[in-house]
Amino acid sequence: MKLNSMNKIIKHTQPIRGMKDIPPLQYDLFQRVVDSASKIARRYCFENFATPILEYSSVFDRTLGETSDVVNKEMYSFVDRSGQGVTLRPELTAGIMRAVLSEGLIQNLPLKFFSYGPLFRYDRPQAGRQRQFHQVNFEIIGEESYSVDVEAIKIGYDIVKDLAISDITIEINSLGCADSRVIYQQKLVEYFARYESELSEDSKLRLYKNPMRIFDSKDDRDKILASGAPRISAFYTKLASSRFEKILLMLNELSVPYQVNELLVRGLDYYCHTAFEYSTNAIGAQTAIGGGGRYDGLARIMGSKSDIPSIGLALGIERIMLLLKDQESYNKAHLGIFPISELEINASYLIASKLRDLDIPINLYEKGKLGKRIERAISKGCNYAAFLGENELIRNEFKLKNLITGEECMLSYDDLLKTIREQFAC
Ligand code: AMP
Repeated sequence: MKLNSMNKIIKHTQPIRGMKDIPPLQYDLFQRVVDSASKIARRYCFENFATPILEYSSVFDRTLGETSDVVNKEMYSFVDRSGQGVTLRPELTAGIMRAVLSEGLIQNLPLKFFSYGPLFRYDRPQAGRQRQFHQVNFEIIGEESYSVDVEAIKIGYDIVKDLAISDITIEINSLGCADSRVIYQQKLVEYFARYESELSEDSKLRLYKNPMRIFDSKDDRDKILASGAPRISAFYTKLASSRFEKILLMLNELSVPYQVNELLVRGLDYYCHTAFEYSTNAIGAQTAIGGGGRYDGLARIMGSKSDIPSIGLALGIERIMLLLKDQESYNKAHLGIFPISELEINASYLIASKLRDLDIPINLYEKGKLGKRIERAISKGCNYAAFLGENELIRNEFKLKNLITGEECMLSYDDLLKTIREQFAC
């Protein structure tokens, strides 16, 4: 019995397929994306907001649309111990809208929320596509104005610029208002029904439920048929087309480059009017690094008495990390304390503790040959070393060495403190 359970433990030394550890160097890149997005979020006066990773399944399956790939094939759903159907969130918007409604935040509209965190989709893993991945996410809830759509598009553009990523294309489309969509959907059904037998199995299912989703198909034959389909712009109401024109004009004025792509409908059913996507050719098959759109009707689907005009955008952190070529790491400079023998370990810990209380970053290097310890410390970013031996302890002194220049000097505790505080600006 015991041997069997040991075998099980040894077998599972890898993370679950499609889920990845983020070791320190990778995490530096991850953090750069989050820091950049947080900085831009502050620039646009967003507030931070976090929702649970696990929600009742209805939060997603009722809202994302029954024809969406996410709901059909990709949800990590299970029944918990109390018999509730729950789902690991596949996206952030529905959870945030659930929270706005359940927390009574609807009284305080408009709201601007920034979030980031892990998401889960049970898709076939490949480069740039994981089963657990992360997004930075922005929601502007309770704002109808076209200028807010421009703001959303610009936020993603600002982050990409801030991270010095080039070769990004911004594609934009208007899905029209609810009225124009109804007529358009009928025309699409008529068009695609003529080729029903040629459609992929997935698109056959989409045909009568949400034919616009056929534009999302990766199937080659579907793509050819989609290219000949009627275009939504021919069905815009006056309101929808003037709204879209104003957005494009304002983007021009702000010098945000974009391409209109009438086949861009995005994967989820709840979008209306503006839909947009940021893409690149630099990371292989997975070209989208982020996207977003307007979702005025989502709140009503979730039980609100009326629509809450809203727009959001999300960028995939892992895909952006693939575009951050330089592995520039975060500031890891610190003071290393090196007890020369076991006798100085206690004193070293006490000094480290005092200095840490003053916000000075400290690491102790206490085991092994001194030369090896110094090498290891340098590889961890240590730039100052304080050596504490028997003599230093008696005289209450330290040998301080600048590991970059090689300079060294003997200092009293007070002088050490003064020098180090100057170096670490604290
Ligand atoms: P979506 O929520 O599907 O619009 O995705 C927004 C962004 O999240 C995409 O453009 C990708 O950058 C990222 N993303 C979506 N799905 C995955 C995935 N399975 N693995 C890694 N990144 C993803």
